[in-house]
Amino acid sequence: MKIKYCEVVFPLKIDALTYSVPEGIDISPGLPVEAPLRGRVQKGIVVRIKDDSPDIPENVLSIKRVLMRKQILSEPLLRLLKWMSEYYFVEEGLVLRSMLPSFLLKKDLKEMEDSFVNNPEGDISYSTFYFRGDIISDEDFKRMLYQLPCAIIIAPGYDEVKRIYNILLPSFKERLCQFHSRLKASELRRVYIEIISGKYNLILGMRSAIFLPVRPSVIVVTEESSFSYRSKRIPKFNIRDISVMRAYIEDIPVVLTSRIPSIETLFNIKTGKYRVLKGLDPERRDIIPEQRNDVIFRRLTESKDTSIRIIRIKGSASLTNELREEIYRTVSKSGRVLIVLPRYGYSLIYCGDCDGLQRCSCGGFYIFFKEENILRCSRCGGKRGVINTCYRCGGYKLEFRGSGIEKIMEEINSIKDLNASIKKGSDDLDINILIRARGAVKGDYNLGVILDADIYLNIPDYRAEERLFHEVITLTDRLKRGGKIIIQTRMPELKVFSYIKKLNFKDFSYDELKKRKEMLYPPFSRFISLSIRLKKDISFETIKNEIIKRGAEILNFNTDDGRMNFLLRLKRGVDPNMLCDYFRSLRQKKWEVLCDTEPWV
Ligand SMILES: [Zn+2]
Ligand SMILES: [Zn+2]
Repeated sequence: MKIKYCEVVFPLKIDALTYSVPEGIDISPGLPVEAPLRGRVQKGIVVRIKDDSPDIPENVLSIKRVLMRKQILSEPLLRLLKWMSEYYFVEEGLVLRSMLPSFLLKKDLKEMEDSFVNNPEGDISYSTFYFRGDIISDEDFKRMLYQLPCAIIIAPGYDEVKRIYNILLPSFKERLCQFHSRLKASELRRVYIEIISGKYNLILGMRSAIFLPVRPSVIVVTEESSFSYRSKRIPKFNIRDISVMRAYIEDIPVVLTSRIPSIETLFNIKTGKYRVLKGLDPERRDIIPEQRNDVIFRRLTESKDTSIRIIRIKGSASLTNELREEIYRTVSKSGRVLIVLPRYGYSLIYCGDCDGLQRCSCGGFYIFFKEENILRCSRCGGKRGVINTCYRCGGYKLEFRGSGIEKIMEEINSIKDLNASIKKGSDDLDINILIRARGAVKGDYNLGVILDADIYLNIPDYRAEERLFHEVITLTDRLKRGGKIIIQTRMPELKVFSYIKKLNFKDFSYDELKKRKEMLYPPFSRFISLSIRLKKDISFETIKNEIIKRGAEILNFNTDDGRMNFLLRLKRGVDPNMLCDYFRSLRQKKWEVLCDTEPWV
């Protein structure tokens, strides 16, 4: 039967739109097309064929032309797009925008048409495995990968990509490629065409690599517990979860690896959804699961003898005397120190007259960057010249509050008789002290320092303690045998420190799961922060009832600045689709609906 209508998604903040298919044009899902939108011809992707006619056929515009005869999104990727839009409550266009490399729809696609080839299929079907440790260096793993037609490895950041690349390059040589946003646009385009033409059988990348239109035979997600897999901006996708879903849709195995599992992964292991991977059998191309799951709790300090000390911060000092002494001792024995402090710049600025910090109009705090002599907003990145008087009250009683990396560098430099070279950012082998916002960096250190654990714990979020635990684990990975860790805090009596001190992840995670179950926090539910711009013709009561009818619980509600803001909870097992359809129907009526699926709670 002749196809009369189809739905097209454009890489814009809108849902799929219906178009008619003119005589003589052949359409199938996944094809790139040009179609009129908002008075212009724009490039989009056909996502679905429509069997029924639209309500008012005269209002439907026609597809202009097909840009190439190859699917830019394969069948599984089209399903993934739909799932992401429903699971994260966002417009399909926004999902498409994050799936396609930005160069793709800007260029002429015709020249790419002949490049697309189909990979042969792998022979192992879907299952999610968890592997504790570094699977990349495992010889069986490398041998197994070598035999597979196509594997995708996802890493949370560029440092990790570089590390894996260096490990795998000697065995894979020209069969290995990198695909991520750190490549130059021209390079990215070249690699993309080579990937679709089947040149590589091992693709290593960060978030964007999971959306490549190849047929993978396995997906590996390294450092699965990394918080970097969650986007910081809306839509808040989680690349780890998307990887698992893609593997499910493609019916292939996915392997999540890390030093310690995230609480969600642990929950999925406990409930039997994920299996623990024991090893690989490259001869038989088989994955061997563990019989007993508790091997994932093997002692974390097994070979390293790391000692951990928790030190109480008194007053406003950022470096306690104990820490100064330890740094001095380490450096004078030619040891190396790694300090983690997730605060860039020099300091925040406080006004004593109106008792508040200097803030940007976006709500973020201004941070003073001493080296550049500038103020920069912590949230929007907006810059301002340095000030002598308070923005709010004009007062002169300005002082520095809190210490950023620049200020700590100054303070360490002032340690008496300390003969050390200090650097911030990336590692250099000839320096003694490195200060970074995150612990993930290569290198061997004798002393690791979490300068202010309270920065992690004061975030109003149920994941705060988990996050701190992970930062400590990352730090232990960077230490030499017999290394020391010092953690400074104003709250050493908190229970989490008794677990951290012994690197007792097992009891910590059981405690954490128990707590989350009692409070009905994820993974026992999902939170959604919802914001709707108010319109006259509908009441809060109506919206509230519609939401409750679709299975969500309203935990919190307020109106401000012409918007209705809700905090919703979806219990496990509640299908998000109904809610998603409702938001979509509001958007169709030109309502502005914003959903944050990873709010701070
Ligand atoms: Zn003031
Ligand atoms: Zn700002």
